[in-house]
Amino acid sequence: MAKTVLRTPESLSRQQLRLRDDQRITALREIPVLEALPLSELRLLGRHAVLRVFADQATILTERMPNEYLYIVLHGTVMVNLHDRIGRDVSLGRLPVGTMFGEGPLFGNRFGGVSVVAQSSCQLLQISLDVLRREQAQLGQLMTQLRAMYRQRLVQSTLARVPFLAQLSDQERSDLIEQLIVRDVQRGEYIVRAGNRPNGLHLIELGQCAVARDDQVVGHLEEGDFFGALALMSETPATDDVRAVTPCTIMTLPSLSFFELLRQRPELTTAITQLLTERRDYIERQKEELGGILQKGIRRGDTVFVRDVNRCPADCRLCVQACTTRHGAARMHHTGMLHEQVMLVDACRQCRHGAECVEACPSNAITWQGTALVIQENCTGCGDCVPACPYEAMTLEPRDRSWRGQLQRGLAQMPLIPLTPQTPLYQAAKCDFCAGHDDMACVSVCPIGALRLVAVETLFPY
Ligand code: SF4
Ligand code: SF4
Repeated sequence: MAKTVLRTPESLSRQQLRLRDDQRITALREIPVLEALPLSELRLLGRHAVLRVFADQATILTERMPNEYLYIVLHGTVMVNLHDRIGRDVSLGRLPVGTMFGEGPLFGNRFGGVSVVAQSSCQLLQISLDVLRREQAQLGQLMTQLRAMYRQRLVQSTLARVPFLAQLSDQERSDLIEQLIVRDVQRGEYIVRAGNRPNGLHLIELGQCAVARDDQVVGHLEEGDFFGALALMSETPATDDVRAVTPCTIMTLPSLSFFELLRQRPELTTAITQLLTERRDYIERQKEELGGILQKGIRRGDTVFVRDVNRCPADCRLCVQACTTRHGAARMHHTGMLHEQVMLVDACRQCRHGAECVEACPSNAITWQGTALVIQENCTGCGDCVPACPYEAMTLEPRDRSWRGQLQRGLAQMPLIPLTPQTPLYQAAKCDFCAGHDDMACVSVCPIGALRLVAVETLFPY
């Protein structure tokens, strides 16, 4: 007699789960970009993928805003755009069915990015980047594929950001990519020395540089900026030093390739000359400020707090008080650097690339959360990040401000009482745009709207 198999709810749900997994694997296999992945990776992806539908013209990713998902286009098309360094729209083309996007943050490019907009009603598979980070050991082949795709796209988007190269067709930019020499440069390293002849046109893929003449800062360069063109075109030595302010990735188009490009597209000579003239005129107007801007790290992040000094009464400190009330100590200040009619307020810059505090922290306790770098619970209060910040934005604060915390800190200072606290007595603190709260206390409290958080690029277009 055949045995009756009793199906417990647990075994039934396992069976259902397996069936669901199998259906998902079959569906994922039909996506060309995933078809070569091993079964184990498809199964993992299938478990975590969510189907999303976007209406025509819906924005899926926004340039310079953090993104937390990888997407795969299942149905419809999406359009990829970005702005070049002088704010013009540049189209990077359409992504058809079967392509992936959104992988940038997995490889460190949290903010460079592009905007992605649905071109019709679209169906996309959405997978959390946190899941991919967590499971990356099990997703070896997918990660390799994504990394190769990321490198290629980063170079393409950097070229598109360079204003005179944005005029080239996708194909022309792809041809240029083949000729680029890419290298990483350490903070403080000189990329060009005054008096030397440049070996090519340099483009900044990642990071920020300072231009200096006789040790005086005369310019700031960042992602999508180029340098070396003037000396190349005039066949003279460079007049300025260019030094990396953060760790940088630099792409160099060798001189021969640069001249060949100008031979094929002579109109680029005019475009480059015009850009250099605009940049020089702008810098001439800003030169008094440039040293201060660099010293205060105002361009290290994407945004900066500005206080309208004409509207803000000199003795008003409501914003600083609101910050103190919320956090126990002020993380932003009434002081700062005057720029035209506004004060660029002293506070953490949320350095988007190569933040010194992050590099100094041995516990990996400072991580991105949305648009801010946030101190995490695993901070041990060691204090290494405090002197690392060049802008004095980081402090150590007591973890527990109650009488118990005070007592513990007092006892810890008595050499005769050996005390090893269970939890650290101090933790690092800095402005994190009020992470975990619904608003920014300082901005919300100002009754006349004199304090705002603004995009750095609106203040400094070059
Ligand atoms: S605390 Fe960190 S992120 Fe903030 S300004 Fe200093 S180095 Fe930059
Ligand atoms: S104090 Fe905290 S955030 Fe700063 S370096 Fe030490 S562990 Fe990292």
